[in-house]
Amino acid sequence: MRRAAIVPFRLVVDGTLCDGHGICALVCPERIGLDDWGYAVVDGSGVDDTRTAARARRAVAACPARALSCLEVARAPERRRGAPPDTGARGLAHGPS
Ligand code: SF4
Repeated sequence: MRRAAIVPFRLVVDGTLCDGHGICALVCPERIGLDDWGYAVVDGSGVDDTRTAARARRAVAACPARALSCLEVARAPERRRGAPPDTGARGLAHGPS
């Protein structure tokens, strides 16, 4: 059976929105932990496997404060000579896709 390819992305948390509900860490413990006060601490490295991607997207959807987002990680862009470097991050819609 062939698996559908996923677009690599990374999780980000907006600390100004996080209310410390902790739901995200229960849904995606591979990438999200909680600090001493219960606020989300996210492993921002790229997610490129389907299982973790599904959990990460569920965590984004489950956050009642809408503090979590997925940022697409761009594949190595072709740079024009003299062009500024690409940061590699693109915004995706908030919530599951
Ligand atoms: S579910 Fe949302 S508000 Fe709660 S800890 Fe996670 S990011 Fe913060």
